[in-house]
Amino acid sequence: MNAWNTFAGRLRGLSRRSLGVRIVLLFLGLLLAVQAASFVAIRATIDRNARASIASALVSGEQLLGRLLQQNADKLAQGATLLAADYGFRSAVASGDTDTIASVLSNHGDRIGATVSALLDTRFALRAAAQPGVDRLRPAIDRMSARLAGGQPAREIVVLDRKPFQLVLVPMRAPVVVGWVLMGFPIDEPLMNDMRDLSALHVSLQVRQGPAQAWTTSVSTLPANVHAAVEAQRSDETASMNVRLPDGEYSSRQMRLATDASTEVAAVLMRSVDEAVAPYRQLQFGLAALTLLGVIVFAFGSVLTARRVTTPLRRLAAAAERLGAGDYATPLRGQQRADEIGELAQAFERMRIRIADHQQQVLKLAYEDSLTGLPNRTSFRQAVSAATEAAAAAGRSVAVVMMDLDRFKHVNDVLGYRYGDLMLKRVAERLAQEVLRDGDIVARLDGDEFAVLLPMLDPATDAALANTVARRITESFDRSVLLDDQAVDISASIGIALWPQHAGDTDTLLSRAEVAMYAAKRRRDGPTFYDAKLDAASAQTLSLLTELRHAIDHGELRLYLQPKLALDTGRVIGAEALVRWQHPVRGLVPPMEFIPFAEQTGFIRVLTLWVFEEAARHWKRLSRSGAPLSVSVNLSTRDLMDQDLPQKFEAVLVRHQVPAEGFCLEITESAIMDDPERTLGTLERLSSLGFRLSIDDFGTGYSSLAYLKRLPVDELKIDKSFVLNMEKDIDDARIVRSTIDLAHGLGLTVVAEGVENAQCWELLRALHCDEAQGFHMSRPLPADEFERWSSLWTARHAQVALPRGPESDRAITLH
Ligand code: C2E
Ligand code: CA
Ligand code: CA
Repeated sequence: MNAWNTFAGRLRGLSRRSLGVRIVLLFLGLLLAVQAASFVAIRATIDRNARASIASALVSGEQLLGRLLQQNADKLAQGATLLAADYGFRSAVASGDTDTIASVLSNHGDRIGATVSALLDTRFALRAAAQPGVDRLRPAIDRMSARLAGGQPAREIVVLDRKPFQLVLVPMRAPVVVGWVLMGFPIDEPLMNDMRDLSALHVSLQVRQGPAQAWTTSVSTLPANVHAAVEAQRSDETASMNVRLPDGEYSSRQMRLATDASTEVAAVLMRSVDEAVAPYRQLQFGLAALTLLGVIVFAFGSVLTARRVTTPLRRLAAAAERLGAGDYATPLRGQQRADEIGELAQAFERMRIRIADHQQQVLKLAYEDSLTGLPNRTSFRQAVSAATEAAAAAGRSVAVVMMDLDRFKHVNDVLGYRYGDLMLKRVAERLAQEVLRDGDIVARLDGDEFAVLLPMLDPATDAALANTVARRITESFDRSVLLDDQAVDISASIGIALWPQHAGDTDTLLSRAEVAMYAAKRRRDGPTFYDAKLDAASAQTLSLLTELRHAIDHGELRLYLQPKLALDTGRVIGAEALVRWQHPVRGLVPPMEFIPFAEQTGFIRVLTLWVFEEAARHWKRLSRSGAPLSVSVNLSTRDLMDQDLPQKFEAVLVRHQVPAEGFCLEITESAIMDDPERTLGTLERLSSLGFRLSIDDFGTGYSSLAYLKRLPVDELKIDKSFVLNMEKDIDDARIVRSTIDLAHGLGLTVVAEGVENAQCWELLRALHCDEAQGFHMSRPLPADEFERWSSLWTARHAQVALPRGPESDRAITLH
């Protein structure tokens, strides 16, 4: 039962119409067909053999019956002979007393079981009989006497009262024949039973009174209720025939025992075919049982075989499913088989590995930056996403440190892309060295933008740790990078955003780190953490940038001029050109909100050209009405990188018919230090065109005056951060003083910007600073108002004995 359950289970395991079921059904079908064929063949053979053996049994039964009847007749003849020789009987016969003879005949007949006993005279006439009615045997007696005359034994089977009898006729000699003794036996059941016992055949004796009559059974070993059926199916034509009885089929054979004019006797021998076949049937049942056993064993075997075939196939199918679903990592089981399926599995596994490799390469392309081998933006984003999830589960935090190289574009521009690539690789190597903890991830997001993911931070110290990493990165850039023996200085602007303090999701976290990074770029004040204020500013500036291009085309930019005055005479001797953006919605936008982005995008070149063009226009206008002024124009790093800048400026000069000497170009220290070699070339060409050059914001960079002297510079502008508080701050005043002295020592004109009050003016004058610029005199003015302001200023201060500065703290402003 258990075995069946497992079998059924396995069978159910093979789904319908599957290969496994087909294999099992085919095997079982073939087995059953072979078994059925041999079963039929065996059955036919058995049947044939059984019938043949019945036929021969019937033939020998016929002989046996003949012999039995012969034996009976012999016994009867012997008894009759004994009687004929019996002395008593002879005496009785000699006495001629019929009664006595009859009595002796009766006694003797009874003794040997004869039912007919009679004495005939020498001419076969009846002399005495033990039973009445012997006359009826007259025809038989005549036939027997005729046979005797022919020298044959006088034996005869007759029918009396529908019963067959066996008659014998023996002579009574003294010593000549004096008479004949006739004796008869009924052929009855005991004889039939003997026959059945000896031959295992059924015997029926049938009689009929003439050929026109029907046969009737007189005695039989068969039960009385089937006699009629046997009688009905018999045929006079053949000796052998088949008889169908309620309990089955019988083979039969009939033999004629006696035939005379009036009566016929026949014995019908029968044998049940079923009975004959029974022992073989037993054998066949055994065979069938064996077949059944075979089928079960075969079924088990074929199910196992089918599973051996289909299980690995199903595994292959499942593996193919997995491949389809994109799982290339799970190896295939069952490859160790040595057969074809094993080969298929191995081929499949090789395919999986190749696809996995291929996939790996595709993934690598998709998730890895091919230049540096670092993860790219996509994979960094995924890593950040995973890190925030893990941190959320563990109650920890995550930091993203994002950095952008400050002068990378110059490396590309100046040294070419090969060096640019080399630089990025070096930077990637350095960053990888700075990442100390396991699990920190360095990625290259874009061009010169890198990021570090610091996962699983302690919320209490995350900011400090992120800051430390950022500082370490900054410090690592203190060493210049070697590119094929060329030392190049680099620096980076770093922004930091923390999860969950600054952002709740990955994209926000990344964009906030970026916002912080841009803020750091603007402030130039080291690593910067994200702050909500930055976001507002950056969102604004970003959208401003898109509008900037529009602004220049639609005349939204305005040129402002801030006067520059000679400290000794108080005269207006020049102006600095400063740009403003008259935004239709935002109003007047200060330059610090769009200049840095214009510099980043390179749009500054267009802007600078616009400013210079406007400056030239106003210079021409102003110079017509009075003493020629010097107009200062600011240049940014990007401008200095532009090899064609001198040419473009020259074209403007020509167009407006103005001299280069009327303009001073202000360049910040850092702009020069970004790439001194290249800057120097541009500066020299500008200088040779006749432009005056000024170092703006002096004191905020690291350049030495000695170094600056090698540049074609004419003017030095002390940064307003030193000037604004110099009347109060002794250190600032000291710096300003020494700067003025040194600059004069080098033959440079010195300008102080950020002069906000009279004390400052006086102090600068006392220190022999050459020029001053500041709110104390005037804020930057719309260029068209400059002339009015200038004449007002001159009217107020011209009559005042020179050299004198403004009298009051209140500057003359027109707005
Ligand atoms: P900068 O070149 O140092 O320009 C001088 C800045 O100092 C101006 O700010 C001016 O308004 C301000 N300033 C002048 N006097 C005083 C004072 O007494 N007190 C104070 N606190 N500030 C004073 P502005 O116009 O906002 O320009 C800021 C910066 O934007 C400029 O600094 C310059 O770097 C840049 N910029 C302005 N216009 C242009 C331009 O046309 N081209 C380029 N490349 N840069 C420009
Ligand atoms: Ca300036
Ligand atoms: Ca300045």
